[in-house]
Amino acid sequence: MTEIRICHLYPKEMNIYGDRGNIAVLQKRLEWRGYSSSITPISTGDDFNPTIFDLCYLGGGQDRDQMLVAYDLQKKSAAIHSAAKDGMVFLWVCGGIQLAGAGYTDSDGRRIPGVGILDLDTSAGKSRLIGDLVLNAELDGETSTLVGYENHAGRTFLGPDATPLGSVLKGHGNNGADQTEGAVQERVIGTYMHGPILPKNPWLADKLLTWAIEHNTGEIPALSSLDDSLENLAQQVAISRAGMKR
Ligand code: GLN
Repeated sequence: MTEIRICHLYPKEMNIYGDRGNIAVLQKRLEWRGYSSSITPISTGDDFNPTIFDLCYLGGGQDRDQMLVAYDLQKKSAAIHSAAKDGMVFLWVCGGIQLAGAGYTDSDGRRIPGVGILDLDTSAGKSRLIGDLVLNAELDGETSTLVGYENHAGRTFLGPDATPLGSVLKGHGNNGADQTEGAVQERVIGTYMHGPILPKNPWLADKLLTWAIEHNTGEIPALSSLDDSLENLAQQVAISRAGMKR
């Protein structure tokens, strides 16, 4: 049985709003299709060997949490870069998207360095961008609606090498100004969407799994379809709650 190997970076320090729920979705959707999976927590001080994973996950965190992990993340930066170049899949959420970029200047003006696997930079604004988020997302030429919620001080602006994950239909997104949300470069995805993002967005979960299985086996899998009626209903409820028509 093919085992898909997932590393969960800083699970204790970077896990606000229940973002670790994303890991459970990835595991179950693999299991339901006959794949096994391993989840390896990587904390500060642990080695990070990029060649033994297919997907790297990092959740959100407050400025203080980001400061706690930033120094260790810098020590892992070269390995993370080579993994991204090798086509490993990344899903880094909120504080994660900020650390995937050049860095984050927090509300006290302190600079928290990022690893630069996404061409973007972030500085804290005077207010927090909070609320429901609805996007029109595009990956690999396919489009889908994504729902979640956001709560961040950071204003993120993308450089030329990064593409937005989607355009904001409802909410603030990367910076509350240019209608972009998230960032994608090759198989690296950063997003501000909490929820956690994956339970209500099975299309995104399966896109990540398709990439991760391809990274593991060298072949693009044809994932069997699942009964996503509950997931789709949850997404529809979130769209209505965001004040948009179903
Ligand atoms: N500390 C960052 C900010 O406030 C990220 C917050 C988060 O992960 N929700 O912008």
